[in-house]
Amino acid sequence: MEVRATAKVKIKASPEIIKTIKVYKKGLQFCINQAWKRKINNNIKLHPFVYPSLRKRGLQSQLAIACIKQACGMVKKAKSKPIINKTSMRYNFPRSASFKNNMLSLATIKGRIKIPFNVPDCYKQYFSWNIKESLLRIDKKGRCFFLFCFAKDIKAKGSNFQNRVLGIDVGINNIAVTSDRIFFNAKQIKQKRIRFQRLRKRLQAKGTHSSKRLLKKIAGREKRFMAYWNHKISKEIVNCDAGTIIMENLKGIRKVRRGRKLNFWLNGWSFYQLQEFIKYKAERKGIKVIRVSPYLTSQACSNCGNIGFRSKGFFICSHCNYSLNADLNASYNLAKHNSKSDGVLASVTMPYIQANEHKGSIATECEAMDKYPLL
Ligand SMILES: [Zn+2]
Repeated sequence: MEVRATAKVKIKASPEIIKTIKVYKKGLQFCINQAWKRKINNNIKLHPFVYPSLRKRGLQSQLAIACIKQACGMVKKAKSKPIINKTSMRYNFPRSASFKNNMLSLATIKGRIKIPFNVPDCYKQYFSWNIKESLLRIDKKGRCFFLFCFAKDIKAKGSNFQNRVLGIDVGINNIAVTSDRIFFNAKQIKQKRIRFQRLRKRLQAKGTHSSKRLLKKIAGREKRFMAYWNHKISKEIVNCDAGTIIMENLKGIRKVRRGRKLNFWLNGWSFYQLQEFIKYKAERKGIKVIRVSPYLTSQACSNCGNIGFRSKGFFICSHCNYSLNADLNASYNLAKHNSKSDGVLASVTMPYIQANEHKGSIATECEAMDKYPLL
């Protein structure tokens, strides 16, 4: 199984880099215009029409090829002609970029430049993996980042773990409950989120310029707070000795009406993010992850399979008089799912992208991030 990861590292924004990105961006728009006009979305077909011009603009050949590819990827997906306002450059290891002895060497319009930087401790282990196509990006504040994409082959765990299946139920009262009877209580998180919500309401009512700015800041803070806990919980969960993890497929869960209060929790807390974190962390350890339809996972009795009812966080079965914590019952049901059905239950991967990055021109970047979860 191949596992992938992305490490975002800040590098110095030298004039060469800034200029190269500018040229690349213009080149990308040029390629899109040409592809759109000629109704081509295949990079090999587009190549002869745009490559000489890209080279004339000063782009190194690998960057020109990456540019053509990116343009085609965007045109293929687009319903109307894409307009580039922000972009990231793709680098191909080792052809347009290389990394050796804490030196990152990048191709620019002024030739190769070398950027020294230290690998943060938390990323050190990944640099022994293969470095794949990576991205160079400048954000709104003019900060420059290099996103290393790594890949590594991981063997599945030994046979004694392989048969052990762990069910994980994510929910409102307990953020996560495993069929190993480990509960991740949401109390602390809940209280903090209520505080966030109150503050948000107050600021929204104010409506002044400074309150709007503060709102933005708080949104960022809340997002980081959620990501922090999701990382913490998922890390703990994958420390189990299981060969397979089964979770509910949460896609479409928002469409179900569940009352305002519950919707606040479902929409607000990124259970999806938690599942994604569990997934990539588990896969990195060689644990298989399966997502199954949430149908009946919380209504059926994990003891006899009949439909029971919930009361005050408890599940009660009137057929066999079995009663236990409702979330735990759901995790037991998940653990019982037959893994033979995983073909039908193809998991959906969602990249972890900050909300403000959804806008703009990063359609193809999402694709890359999709494959490489950000660390
Ligand atoms: Zn029962």
